[in-house]
Order: sequence, then C-alpha cells, then structure tokens
Amino acid sequence: MKLTLIKKIQESKDIYTFVFAPENPIIWKAGQHIFLNIPHENPDARGEIRHFTISSAPFKKDLFITTKFDFEKGSSFKKALLKLNQGDSIEGFNLGGNFMIKDLKAKYVFIAGGIGITPYRSILMDLADEDRLPDIILFYCGKPEGFIFTDILDEIKKKYERLLVHFVIEPQLINGEIIKEKVPDLDDRIFYISGPMGMVKIVEEILLKLNIGKSNIVKDYFPGYD
Ligand SMILES: Cc1cc2nc3c(=O)[nH]c(=O)nc-3n(C[C@H](O)[C@H](O)[C@H](O)COP(=O)(O)OP(=O)(O)OC[C@H]3O[C@@H](n4cnc5c(N)ncnc54)[C@H](O)[C@@H]3O)c2cc1C
Repeated sequence: MKLTLIKKIQESKDIYTFVFAPENPIIWKAGQHIFLNIPHENPDARGEIRHFTISSAPFKKDLFITTKFDFEKGSSFKKALLKLNQGDSIEGFNLGGNFMIKDLKAKYVFIAGGIGITPYRSILMDLADEDRLPDIILFYCGKPEGFIFTDILDEIKKKYERLLVHFVIEPQLINGEIIKEKVPDLDDRIFYISGPMGMVKIVEEILLKLNIGKSNIVKDYFPGYD
C-alpha cells in the first residue's frame, strides 16, 4: 500500500514520529506492526526494509511510525527515512502481529523499554477512546530524555484510575523487587513486554523467576538496537 508522509513530529532529541496517510483506508488492530520499504542509494547490509509498530490508534486513520535515530552510526535505512519530505510516498506491506489485547476482563502489566512504548501508545489510546480500558500497570523504563508520549499517558491516567504508570529511570533497571512491590497481584495478571531484544529477554527471565507462566507473557522484540 502506498503511504504518503504528511508530517514529522520530533518527540525528543533523537526520536521522531512519521505520520503517513494511506492511499486507501486500512484496517489494523492496536499493537500491530507493518513493514516499510524505502528504496535508497547505496543501502547498507541491513537493507531497505524494516518492521515498525503502528503507534497511532486505529480510529486515527493516519498511520504513525515512531522511531529512534543514531545520527552518527545509524543505518542507511534510517537516514533515508529521516530525509523523507512531506508529500513523499513509500511502500507499506504485511500489516500484522499478535501484540494485542484480547481479553478486556483480564488485568495487565505492560513493560516498555525505551522506544518499546510505541505499541502501548496505540493500545492505550484505542482502549481509552472506546471506554474499554482494563486494569493496567505500565512500567516505562529508560533514560529520562527518552521518555515520550508522557502527555498522552497523563491524559489517560487522569481519566482512568485503573491505569497506573511507574517510570523506572536509568541507571535503575527494572527487577523482580520493583515488580513485586508495585504489582501485589502478580499471579492474576497478563504481562506484555516491548522493547529492544536484549531488554525483552532479560525482563522475561525476571518474570519467569517470579513464577509467571510463559502463557501469561506476551513479547514484542525490536531487533537492531542491541
Ligand atoms: C515487530 C517489530 C516492531 C518494531 N517496532 C519498532 C518501533 O515501533 N520503533 C522502532 O524504532 N523500531 C521498531 N522495530 C525495530 C526496527 O525494525 C529496527 O530494527 C530498529 O529500529 C533498528 O533500526 P536500524 O536497523 O535501521 O538501525 P538504527 O536505528 O539506524 O541503528 C541502531 C544501532 O545499530 C547499529 N547499526 C546501524 N546500522 C548498522 C549496520 N548496517 N550494521 C551493523 N550495525 C548497524 C548502530 O550501532 C546503531 O546505533 C520493530 C521491530 C519489530 C520486529
């Protein structure tokens, strides 16, 4: 599908959101991702295609992609993405993924590592819009300068007491003690983890040590950052 860039939003020093208008209306579920193809000159070994979570909620119609840039050592793909101008078109394909909320009666813990906040933006906005937000505890882990979407989180928190947000600020890393302290009903919750691959693996191990069953852990790995 053809996606046309409408605008770029700078979220932090090195994080941008790209707002694309799809040529034809597209249907997706909050938390899903899409592949983007950006043909460019002299692509590096990582190539011209990447996965991205759609950070907008489906009711938005426009497709938001939010990503982080390493301005010195970044890939040729990210350079080409950053160079896109308003009105430029690229190709999006293979929309899909299972990082979605299926049971609105269940209670959840969402754990985001840095840029891994992207699917939660979509999911929380979607659930809040339809007044279906279940009981959610969100841990947002990372460096203070990398926390984005805090205005949206504040807005949803104000409306729904059943959303709790805990920031875990580096050098503090999330660990079993923090999770146990903030989540007294561990065994009654489904855990979602999203972020760079290494972080997701470490957090999964922490959860397994807390005796959370594998079937109650849902993961979204972002490769390429470790
Ligand atoms: C389901 C899914 C959803 C995802 N959602 C998102 C999302 O919402 N937002 C997001 O930002 N990412 C997301 N990703 C990850 C995304 O697809 C990229 O892998 C990631 O952004 C890294 O991009 P990049 O490879 O262009 O590297 P860059 O971001 O440009 O660079 C990251 C680091 O990789 C190293 N590097 C860069 N280029 C090379 C190279 N050619 N060879 C060796 N090392 C290199 C550098 O050290 C650099 O610091 C998702 C991935 C999956 C699978």
